[in-house]
Amino acid sequence: MFFNFYIFNLVIFIAFSEVVNMAVNDLFGTSLEKMHLLDLSVMPEWAQLLVFFIATDFIQWFTHVMLHRYDILWRFHKVHHSVEQMGFAAHLRYHWMENVFYTPMKYIAVMLIGGFTPDQAFIVFYVAIAIGHLNHANIHITYGPLKYIFNNPVMHLWHHVYNLPEGHRHGLNYGISLSLWDYIFRTASIPKDDAHIKLGFPGMEKFPHDLPHQLVYGFKGEK
Ligand SMILES: [Zn+2]
Ligand SMILES: [Zn+2]
Repeated sequence: MFFNFYIFNLVIFIAFSEVVNMAVNDLFGTSLEKMHLLDLSVMPEWAQLLVFFIATDFIQWFTHVMLHRYDILWRFHKVHHSVEQMGFAAHLRYHWMENVFYTPMKYIAVMLIGGFTPDQAFIVFYVAIAIGHLNHANIHITYGPLKYIFNNPVMHLWHHVYNLPEGHRHGLNYGISLSLWDYIFRTASIPKDDAHIKLGFPGMEKFPHDLPHQLVYGFKGEK
């Protein structure tokens, strides 16, 4: 948690923003701040936060789909899917390489929209962490009709199912904070109302159980 969430996340963010800033400066002779597609500073504060939240959530949903679709990315994402029982700590269990995939994507979104302040980014970051913890909690709630907007513990439980239901070759319910994207792009499903489903992925019997081997697994792939 300490390394992935705080240290490495920040290192990747700073490193990537420096590289992008220098590249934009060298290639286009301008700063990234001048390349915003939208300027949200004219909007009220709550609307800015909402746009920031929705935009970064969509980018993360898309990145998550890619993690499932391409084997080279899925190998790293398997660490997160190796949880066999739900609990909020499952949210913190993921390979550090996921930061390398997610952070630049979020950074690009933030830079293209523009007009955000660092404290707004922190508010949205912590709201998303709270929702993420809740989605990994071992509780059986969907928020009723709000399930079409917000990701929830039941939908995310099915995201972790061992045997993927028919019609979902790569996965289902990719939502991070919002389930909206899964309903729009037809990747949402709650096959049955059952909290006792087997979690993991086929072949996880061979997946390493110790930290050092899990850390290098993604780089080596299947043997
Ligand atoms: Zn996943
Ligand atoms: Zn999860």
